[in-house]
Parts: sequence; structure tokens; C-alpha cells
Amino acid sequence: MIIDCHGHYTTAPKALEEWRNRQITALSAGIKDPALMPKASELKIGDDELRESIETNQLKKMKERGSDLTVFSPRASFMAHHIGDYKVSSTWAAICNELCYRVSQLFPDNFIGAAMLPQSPGVDPKTCIPELEKCVRDYGFVGINLNPDPSGGHWTSPPLTDRHWYPIYEKMVEHRIPAMIHVSTSCNACFHTTGAHYINADTTAVMQLIQGDLFKDFPDLKFVIPHGGGAAPYHWGRYRGLAQELKKPLLRDHLLNNVFFDTCVYHQPGIDLLTKVIPVDNILFASEMIGAVKGIDPETGHNFDDTKRYIEATLNLSNADRYKVYEGNARRVYPRLDAALKAKGK
Ligand SMILES: [Zn+2]
Repeated sequence: MIIDCHGHYTTAPKALEEWRNRQITALSAGIKDPALMPKASELKIGDDELRESIETNQLKKMKERGSDLTVFSPRASFMAHHIGDYKVSSTWAAICNELCYRVSQLFPDNFIGAAMLPQSPGVDPKTCIPELEKCVRDYGFVGINLNPDPSGGHWTSPPLTDRHWYPIYEKMVEHRIPAMIHVSTSCNACFHTTGAHYINADTTAVMQLIQGDLFKDFPDLKFVIPHGGGAAPYHWGRYRGLAQELKKPLLRDHLLNNVFFDTCVYHQPGIDLLTKVIPVDNILFASEMIGAVKGIDPETGHNFDDTKRYIEATLNLSNADRYKVYEGNARRVYPRLDAALKAKGK
């Protein structure tokens, strides 16, 4: 079985974006007239529309490329936690999570949800807990996306190791769900959203975790660092050296019981490096398809985000290793996913 731990609903029907645009317009009008603010109930998307948006896109590519199940969360760049206040984020997150839940109900063998949180800059993360718990309890979601920078590229929140975030971590441990550390769109012109802000954030998260001692307080907490861990695996020697200077334990002990890297790295040399540097127990298959990079690589003739090809071709993995990357590690990192599969006899 091949589990893709990183998929977003990037192909949701247009009505979703139109609803969000109305919400943003109402905000920019200053909410003088609350009647301008759209209600969640005004968004109408039928099951047939959802089905078509998946069957002609993600599911089609999953079948072509040979993956079985995708951990599916709302479109990351659309989370845009910097827009509006908690109430705006809360309505928006609820709508987006419900759509992912409906997709998981329409295609129960192929999709299982991960939640977007209603984060908002300067707002206590514990306000996210009701949405988190609804998604786990009522929707059967198996993970969350945690945005370390709800300001969208201005980094106004404390580091991930700060107690600021602990209410979320307590719930993650209680419900046995990991968080993918995933920023959203950049509203800082210096950082391109997917080319700079995403990769910066992945790298920043790893360094914050090295500097702190978070996993002493939360030995069971699990984070997935997406996009292959940003620059961290490439610069692993730098990070090992910095950990040593900071008098931290070896990264193997300091980080790797709790931190995992996905395989959203879009060329063979990148996957070769990831699988050489990072222990196989810490690598989870993912493609982030259909996402940031949709084109075909002229050097190979295949889509950049067809990451399974690179996992198949790398000389660094045995068949037993590939089982871990494709399935075994995901079952370990996402215990609720494992339980849902076992309940179906898988
Ligand atoms: Zn993503």
C-alpha cells in the first residue's frame, strides 16, 4: 500500500474561492455592514461537483502513478491565516475542513483528512482546539497542519518550542495526531510563497527544534516537516555541528524520535540526498500533488511532483526500506490512520 501523507484540496470547485473572495471583500469594506459578510451556509457545493473535482484530478493521478491513499487537507496557500481575525479564520477553516471531510466520505479508500486550524496572528493557539477536536472526533481526521507563522511571512509568533504552542501539543498527544508544520501564503513580497516561504519555514522549524528541548516536555509529539525538510537534510552537517555547539544531544536523539521528513522533493538527486542523509525510519512518502509545481520536467519527461519515480529509482533504499517509506512509517506517525486502516482489515 502506498500512502501519500501530503495532499491538499487544491482543485476545489470555484464556488469555494468565490465565497472566500466575498469574505475578504467584506473585510476590506471594514465590516461596517455585517450583511456584506457571507455566511458559511451560503456556500453550496454538491457531491457531484466534489466527486468530479477529485476524479478528474488527484484520484486520476493517484491511479496513474500508483498511490492508494492520500492524507488530505485544505489548500495550504488558501489558509491565509493573516487575513482578518480569529472569527474570519474560524469560519474559513470550518468550511475548508468540512469539504475535505466530504471528499473522505465520497472516496473512503483513497482519502483521509488532516485539519487546517483557525489560527490568527496574535491570537492564543488554544482557540484552535474546538475545530481540532471536531475534525478528529466527528470527521475522523488523522493529523493537523500547524502554521508556525500565521502572519504570512513576518514571523510574529514565538518559536515552535515556546509554551505559546503547548495547548495544541497537549491535544495532539491526547488524540495521537501528528502535525505537519506548514505555512500558508506569503504576504511579504520578499518571500515567494512556495519557492521561498515554504522552504524557509521548513528549515526554520528544524532549527527552532534544535535550539529548544521541546521533546523533553512532549516525548510523544510528532512533527512532519514537509517539502523534504526544506534545506535541513542538504545542510545536515551544519545542523549537527550547531547542535554540538549548543551542547544539545546528537540529532538522532534530540530530533529523530519526533521529527519526520516527507518526500516532496522534485528531482532524483534531491531524493537521493534525502534518503542518504536522513534515516529511512524518518522518511514518509508524499507528493503534494496537485500542488506547487505542476509542470513536466523536460529532463525526464515526467511531472516534477511524480515523486514515486524517484523513490523507486534511488539506489539508497532496499525493498524493505521502500515499504517503510510508503506505508510502515506513515502507520507509525499517524496512529489514527493505522487504526482506520486496521478497522477495514487493511
Ligand atoms: Zn503542502
